[in-house]
Amino acid sequence: MAHNVQHIPAAPLLRVDALNLEYHTHQRVIRATHNVGFEVFAADRFVLLGPSGCGKSSLLKAIGGFLPAVSGRIELEGQSVTQPGPDRLMVFQEFDQLPPWKTVLENVMFPLLASGKAHRAEAREHARYFLDKVGLSAFADAYPHTLSGGMKQRVAIARALAMQPKVLLMDEPFAALDALTRRKMQEELLALWEEVRFTLLFVTHSIEEALVVGSRILLLSPHPGRVRAEINSHQYGINDFGSSDFQQTAQRIHELLFSDPESGPATAPAETAKPRFKVVGK
Ligand code: ADP
Ligand code: MG
Repeated sequence: MAHNVQHIPAAPLLRVDALNLEYHTHQRVIRATHNVGFEVFAADRFVLLGPSGCGKSSLLKAIGGFLPAVSGRIELEGQSVTQPGPDRLMVFQEFDQLPPWKTVLENVMFPLLASGKAHRAEAREHARYFLDKVGLSAFADAYPHTLSGGMKQRVAIARALAMQPKVLLMDEPFAALDALTRRKMQEELLALWEEVRFTLLFVTHSIEEALVVGSRILLLSPHPGRVRAEINSHQYGINDFGSSDFQQTAQRIHELLFSDPESGPATAPAETAKPRFKVVGK
């Protein structure tokens, strides 16, 4: 049968189209993103990269179903996103995401039980599986306040993954960690992805972090966020930090992020450039 199957290009898991997001305060309307569009495919490690205030968190909030679009669309598997749901779970930067009166294991089990996704025995088994994946089996019975910041983040990641969301949303999850812990968390996230192959939508304002964590990067211009370029970055891993190729790409991204789009990009998107930059709407 297989030889009769036509090759059909995979449909995107998540599609964001011409998305405009705004905040209305007493005095004025603040435009957070302008006509942002992108597609995320299953098992992508898709990174939204841009300077502070360019609307990255707003985009995640909108995809999470917490912030309505002024115009444009968000579709998950072809269904319009209009409200929060367990198919899109968020991991934040803050360390106090975990109720302190529940043990690590109870914390990871909780959403499975509360959503009715699993009964107690199944939830426990599931939670233990993902705690093992993030290297915290030995801390199942510990309380969150006894853990380091990095460990709390690993619990938050295990808790979200245990729910098997269609997309895992991470908003600068490692930004509050010290440099060494941050590097370690990036490494662990990649190892976890190798094993579980979840779909990740990751927000950062760090070019280096985007290159290491991401397989694809969407560059957003400063406030209000517009798409500046899309970059393939699957070739860079945790061990490429110092390499000259890595540094050159980081430099090019820096120029793309901060060049004036009206006068054209600071560096022309040369066809021969490695990796290929698709400069959008310059
Ligand atoms: P980023 O995550 O990239 O730093 P945000 O999405 O948080 O950016 O913010 C985008 C813009 O929207 C910024 O100018 C910010 O000041 C504004 N903004 C964010 N949240 C609110 C809010 N609750 N009310 C008003 N303005 C907001
Ligand atoms: Mg933010």
